Formats: sequence, C-alpha cells, structure tokens
Amino acid sequence: MSGFDMKNDTHRRYNPLTGEWMLVSPHRGKRPWQGQQETPVSLNLPEYDETCYLCPGNSRAGGVQNPKYNGPFVFTNDFSAITPNISDGAVDDDLFQAKSEKGICRVICFSPYHNKTVPQLSSNEMFAVAKVWQREYVELGSKEFINHIQIFENKGAAMGCSNPHPHCQIWAQQSIPEIVSKENFRQKTYFEQHTKPLLQEYVEQELQRNERVIAENDSFVALVPFWATWPFEVMVLPKISKPSIAALNDMELRNFSDMYRIVTCKYDNLFKTSFPYSAGVHQAPTDGGNYDYWTMHMHFYPPLFRSATVKKFMVGYEMMAEPQRDITAEQGAAILKDLSAEHYLHK
Ligand SMILES: [Zn+2]
Ligand SMILES: [Zn+2]
Repeated sequence: MSGFDMKNDTHRRYNPLTGEWMLVSPHRGKRPWQGQQETPVSLNLPEYDETCYLCPGNSRAGGVQNPKYNGPFVFTNDFSAITPNISDGAVDDDLFQAKSEKGICRVICFSPYHNKTVPQLSSNEMFAVAKVWQREYVELGSKEFINHIQIFENKGAAMGCSNPHPHCQIWAQQSIPEIVSKENFRQKTYFEQHTKPLLQEYVEQELQRNERVIAENDSFVALVPFWATWPFEVMVLPKISKPSIAALNDMELRNFSDMYRIVTCKYDNLFKTSFPYSAGVHQAPTDGGNYDYWTMHMHFYPPLFRSATVKKFMVGYEMMAEPQRDITAEQGAAILKDLSAEHYLHK
C-alpha cells in the first residue's frame, strides 16, 4: 500500500530542465507560518547620490562620465569579466584542459533614480528596460563570436550587490555556460521525444493544476516550480513557447516586464523589506542554430526565508550532496499568491 504524501513525507523531486534531483523535507517546514515581519526597513536613499558611479552625470571608476540619461542607460562594463580582444587558444591535455573565452559585458541602469527598484518602477519604465534587453539580445547575438547572452540582476547586499542603484548586467560570450547547456540538452531531448517544447507542456500542466501559480497575465505565468530549491524561488514563463525575448511582440514584451515587476512587488511585500534576489533570463543560444525547442524563461532565486533577516544558506548537506528545502513549493506558492501586486510603500 502506498501512503506516500508529498505534503508530509520527505521526498526527492526531479528538475526536468537540468536533470537534477533535490530533497524536500515538508515536516521541517510545518511549523506554522508566523508571517514574521521586521519593522519595515526604510533605507531613505536619495534620488541622486554624488558618490554613485551609476547615477546620471557622475564619473565611473574607469573615469568615463555618464550622460544625464533619463531612461534606461547601457554601457560596456569598465571592468568586464569577459572581453572581446584576447588571443584564441586552448590547452588540450587530458586532465588539464582550458580554452580561451571571448565576450562582452554590459551594464544597464533601469532608471536615473538612485533609490528606485524594479517593483517601484512603472509599467512603462519596465517596458523601456525590456525593450533594451530585446535590442541588446539581437545586437550582441548577431556578432559572430557571441553564442550566448545572459541577462541578470543581482539585487541587495545579501546577494553581494554593493550598489543599490537599480541595474542589471549582460554577459555575452562565446560558449554556452554550464547551467544553460544542461537546460538546452534537456529541452532538446524532450522535443525530440514529444515534438513539443518541454516548458510549453510544463506551463500548460501548471495552469491546469493551479497549485503553484502565483500570478498570470495574457502572455506570461509566474509560478514556484515543482522542483524549486530556494524557499520563494519563482519562474516566469510564456504561455505560448517563445525561444527568446526577440520573438516577443510589444504587447508580449510588456506582459513579460509587468510580470517581472509583479513578482518583485510580491517579494518586497512578503517581509516589508527591499527583498534581495538574483534573477536572470534564459534564452536560446545565438549561434545561428535551430532552437524551436527552446522556451525563454526567467528565474528568481531569493535567499530570504522566514523574515527579512533569516537567510537560507546552501551549505553543509547542500554543498556536499544536493539542494534541500523545508517548506514545499506549494506552500511557498500559496504565500506568494496571496500577496498584493501593489508595493507596500505605495499604499
Ligand atoms: Zn545611483
Ligand atoms: Zn533556466
């Protein structure tokens, strides 16, 4: 007899995007949710900070002066981790392999305002950011030596982000990085077996089951994935599979950027704090291949757990064995779903 119950029994869940398993221990998270909230942290940041290297008109560390921009502002990172002008080369020595890597790193300021974060920007302001993402994906992707484009935002000191000015980064490079490479392989294999994109099937089933969906609009769904490892991990997916942001029309692009805003608003409302996270968009490679099987999507990995100060660490068992979580994805989703999509500071 099988009395297995995912709400109560410890189990492992499979991530079909990466092919990896993770551990869920629901009994450990069954302590009642206390909705513990710290006193709202009012950072009182100024609209303009003369010491910030991202604010309009200021000089950056490399000496270049920012223009007095009033919408999203893009520049090539003065301290790029990957650069275009290096010599090609490789070491092919069985246990000691290495290969040169070329690329371009850019920074995009979301807004001229030093003290605004994504959930505090308007729908129009976030749409303007998404338009820049689209343009950069196409422009960088058309370069012969750029085969993958990673757009990501690292927000908050808890994530090691030192500058509160709202911004994200783009790392465009020659190789397809490890995580994306795994997701690429799984999506390709699934498509070959089912003639349907993996994430198209997944999003349809999630909408039907309606246990982990936290928000949706005409084109996009935000949900806590079944295999989520972070307590409030979220994925944003298109309802109709699109390989990249370049395939979205303006209405879809606005729906996408709205979802970005809504998810981060719910995050801030959770502990009435400026909620830290790493978020990024995964998209089809730009090496000219056929990527019909690819579905673009955005991941949100936030470290906070029970309050604005209780952080989840991926340490011990998780560093040695595999990720583990206490509250189930369904519990996390129920909490996020109930939170307002209007920012607590705007009320
Ligand atoms: Zn600034
Ligand atoms: Zn992904």
